Amino acid sequence: MTMATPLKSSLDLAPTQLLIDNEWVDSLSGKTFDTLNPATEEPICAIAEAGAADVDRAVSAAREAFELGEWAEMSPRRRGELLFALADLVEQHRDELARLETLDNGKPLSQSLSADLPLTVQCYRYYAGWADKIQGRTLPVDRPYFSYTRHEPIGVVGQIIPWNFPLLMQAWKLAPALAAGNTVVLKPASNTPLTALRVGELIVEAGFPAGVVNIVPGLGSVAGMAIASHPDIDKVAFTGSTKVGHSILAAAASSNLKRVTLELGGKNPNIVFADADMDAALAGAHFGLFFNQGQCCTAGSRLFVQDSIYDEFVDRSVERARNRIVGDPFDPETEQGPQVSQAQMDRVMHDIESGMREGARLLCGGNRIGDRGFFVEPTVFADVRDEMTIARKEIFGPVMSIIKFKDIDEVIRRANQTIYGLAAAVWTRDISKAHAIAHAIKAGTVWVNCYDVFDAAAPFGGFKQSGIGRELGEYALQEYTEVKAVTVKL
Ligand code: NAD
Ligand code: MN
Repeated sequence: MTMATPLKSSLDLAPTQLLIDNEWVDSLSGKTFDTLNPATEEPICAIAEAGAADVDRAVSAAREAFELGEWAEMSPRRRGELLFALADLVEQHRDELARLETLDNGKPLSQSLSADLPLTVQCYRYYAGWADKIQGRTLPVDRPYFSYTRHEPIGVVGQIIPWNFPLLMQAWKLAPALAAGNTVVLKPASNTPLTALRVGELIVEAGFPAGVVNIVPGLGSVAGMAIASHPDIDKVAFTGSTKVGHSILAAAASSNLKRVTLELGGKNPNIVFADADMDAALAGAHFGLFFNQGQCCTAGSRLFVQDSIYDEFVDRSVERARNRIVGDPFDPETEQGPQVSQAQMDRVMHDIESGMREGARLLCGGNRIGDRGFFVEPTVFADVRDEMTIARKEIFGPVMSIIKFKDIDEVIRRANQTIYGLAAAVWTRDISKAHAIAHAIKAGTVWVNCYDVFDAAAPFGGFKQSGIGRELGEYALQEYTEVKAVTVKL
C-alpha cells in the first residue's frame, strides 16, 4: 500500500510543548515522547511529556485563574464571546486541523472534514450560547424567608480524553466547563496530542486569560493518574476504557472526593426487525460498526437480526464489508484507515482469534493488511452467540458480530444482558415496536432507524458500567456547576 502522506512542511505542525498559564513550556523533567503516524508507523514529532510536577504547576495556574483576576471577574456573557471566538478560529483552521487529526490518528481525511470538524465547531458554539443562560431559581419556602439558588462553577476541573475523536472529545470537555466558568487542566491521549495542542494556540489567540485552559500531554498512568488523585482538582471528567474508569473513581475517592464524570465503553445492541427498510438497515449497520475504524464507544457491535431476514442480511453485510475501501487516509476514496496504534491493532487481532476459536463463523476479513501501518481487514462474523467473548467484550475495531433472534421479548432480554449501557439502535417500520425497544433497553442513547447521530444539544452518556453523568446538551451543565441555596430573612 503506498501512502501519499503530505510532507511535514505542508502541515503547520502544532506546538509540541505543554501549555501552562498561557506559556508553552518543556516538562520539568525534560522528558518527551513520540507521536506516530499510524498509517506509516513513522514518528511525526516529539512531545513534551508531563509528569506529576507539571500537573502540579498546571493546577496552580488553574487555581489562581479560578480564584482571582480576569476570569474570576469576567461576566458570563464575555465568557460566551470568548467561546464564540474560539469556534470561529477552529472553523477558520478547519482544513489544517482536519489534516493534523488524520496524520496523528489515521482516520480518513474525508471523515475528519465531514464529521470531526463540524461537530467540534458546533459544540463550542452551542456552549458559547449557554454561557449567559446558566441560571438558578427562586424557591417557594415558608415565610418570612426568601430563598434562591445559584449555579456556580465547581472550580479547577481535570479532563482526560481519548484518541478516537481527539478534537471532538476536547470540545465536549472544554466547552461546557468553560461556559460554566471553571478552569481546566486537560490531558490529551498520548497517541494523539497534536490537535489538542494546536487548539491550545487558538485558545490563547481567542483571548482566554492565562491559566484558564492548561494542556498537559503525557501518559495515562503518570499525568492522568496525577490529575485523578490531585487534592486541589475539584472535579475530574474522563473518557476511555471502563477499566481505567474504575481507577479514576477510586483515585477520586481516596484523594478529595472530587466530582467525577465518566464516559466509558459500550457493547451496543443494534436490532434489525424483519419489517425494517432493509437497505437503510444494512447501510446503518455497516456505518454503525465500521465508522472510525470501529473505534467508537457507540459501535453497534452486537448486531441482532431477526431470523426471517437473517441469511439475506448476513450475505449483504459481508458483500458491503468486502467492498469497503481501506488504505491511505489522505486518499479521498478511502473509507477506512489504520487502527490508531500497534497496541490497538494487536488487541483487535487477538479478539478476532477468540471469535474463530469459540466457533463464530468468519465470513470475511480476519487479517492484518500488509506489514506497515496498523491496517485491519473489515471483518464479519455470523452465528455469534451471546456467551462468546466477541459478543461480550468491547473490541474497538472493524469487527462485526451478527447474532440471530426470534422475537421482541427475547431480543430485549438478550440486548440488556451486558455490563454496558451506552447506546442502542432499532430498525423497524412499526412505531410501537420502535418505542417499546427505546423504553426497554437500558442505555443512555437509543437511535431509531438511524445510527451515530450526534448533536451538541442531545445528552450523551451511559447506564451501568458505561459511565456516570452526561455530556452535551443542557444536562452537561449540571456536571460542571455546584448548586448553592441562599436564604435571606425578610
Ligand atoms: P485508556 O482508557 O487507557 O485511555 C484513555 C485516556 O485515559 C488516555 O488519555 C490515557 O492516557 C488515559 N489513561 C490511561 N490510564 C490512565 C490512568 N490509570 N489514570 C488516568 N488516566 C489514564 O484506553 P486505551 O488503552 O487507549 O484503549 C483501550 C480500550 O479502551 C479500547 O480498546 C477501547 O475498548 C476503550 N476506549 C474507549 C473509548 C471511549 O470513547 N469510551 C476511547 C478510547 C478507548
Ligand atoms: Mn499519533
